[in-house]
Amino acid sequence: MSFESLGLEPALLRALAEQGYANPTPIQAAAIPVVLEGGDLLAAAQTGTGKTAAFSLPLLHRLSKTAPAGTRRPRALILTPTRELAAQVHDNLRDYGKHLRISSTTIFGGVSMGPQVQALRRGVDIIIATPGRLIDHMQQRSVDLSGIDVLVLDEADRMLDMGFLPALKRILAAVPKHRQTLLFSATFAPPIKALAMQFMHQPREVSVTPPNTVANTVTHHVHPVDAAKKRDLLLHVLSQDSCRQTLVFSRTKHGADKLVTFLSAAGMRAAAIHGNKSQNARTRALSDFKTGRVTVLVATDIAARGIDIDQLPIVINFDLPMVAEDYVHRIGRTGRAGAEGKAVSLVSHDESGLLRDIRKLLKQDIAFSDVPGFEPSHPLRTDAAAPRPVQGQRQPQQRQGRQGRPQGSHRPHGHHGGHSQGGDRPAEGNRKRQRRGRPAAKA
Ligand code: AMP
Repeated sequence: MSFESLGLEPALLRALAEQGYANPTPIQAAAIPVVLEGGDLLAAAQTGTGKTAAFSLPLLHRLSKTAPAGTRRPRALILTPTRELAAQVHDNLRDYGKHLRISSTTIFGGVSMGPQVQALRRGVDIIIATPGRLIDHMQQRSVDLSGIDVLVLDEADRMLDMGFLPALKRILAAVPKHRQTLLFSATFAPPIKALAMQFMHQPREVSVTPPNTVANTVTHHVHPVDAAKKRDLLLHVLSQDSCRQTLVFSRTKHGADKLVTFLSAAGMRAAAIHGNKSQNARTRALSDFKTGRVTVLVATDIAARGIDIDQLPIVINFDLPMVAEDYVHRIGRTGRAGAEGKAVSLVSHDESGLLRDIRKLLKQDIAFSDVPGFEPSHPLRTDAAAPRPVQGQRQPQQRQGRQGRPQGSHRPHGHHGGHSQGGDRPAEGNRKRQRRGRPAAKA
């Protein structure tokens, strides 16, 4: 299936080509036709599946067909649980809609209301908002929701987790009854179904299964090593396998860059792909990797989500992810469709606790094997007191606030990702939680 065959506007197809998207992801292929037809949609898809484009593309397409001549009342409202997600959705909308004349703005807390009021007064087609700040604008009457044709609830399960149900109900009461509603959630848990039953009209359901199981054709290898010797061990492992395309995961963007510098100095053709790289640089790195100009692609977890590389013979974890489910996402790149795959992790003593979490999640023991010349001075331990690294970008406390779960505990359906490489700070949600107990108006 191609984007052309979905019948999207040529201006959108141009933007997609510029983004380097070759084909729709499964959620896009399933959702876009439903949205284009104008029906309500209940979609189960996590971050990393391409869900943002799944609603943004048909939304932009539909709005481009009915662009108003005069003053712009907002015609579409996208609600997100966090500021980070709102900003990310806005960025994506701007990328996809760059050849269209459709305006959008974000409405979220933590910044002053003045510029938001002005943007709303000037007129805008699409609002991307977090519920709390939107309610503030509703109370000030600085936003008019009476022209909303399309309402998107993005990561609806997280909005409910964060206590936004009263706010959602107020917003739903303020938008027209005749509208199209698109609800995206990581799961179809009962509260989501209840929300859909109450506020949606005969929604079509689409669902994509996250890769939360590892193919049994993948073999897992752990090489214990001292942290200071990891780079040399990586080079050693790569040089054993130099003719093959290898994806290497680094926990941090800075770490990915340092590795590429190191590998390049050692004569390897390596490139990095992470959130600090421009879209052009990412697209180039990816296409160089696919064509074989680059043999080692060093990626961070979030940058690797949704990128279209599969069927790799080997994936190397230069460091273990802070969250065990990310191991599954990483390894999902290899051993597909019955092919043999190899997952190699270079694990230092301080990552023992992370390894324990991964073994627990996989329900599988992973054998350790020392590489001669790289034997560690401290053995790995996977008992209850196994240590975890203290530095890195996805710190336990950053992940904790969202649902009050300690880092390392697992959501049954996999976590649904950070929206910035620094983790998804639940600033808005915490604020809302602090407000709990105050009147519904400020929920
Ligand atoms: P999302 O699930 O919306 O957070 O998207 C995850 C990542 O996939 C983002 O970096 C998107 O830019 C990227 N992406 C979305 N759709 C496609 C596509 N059809 N092909 C390649 N990458 C995509």
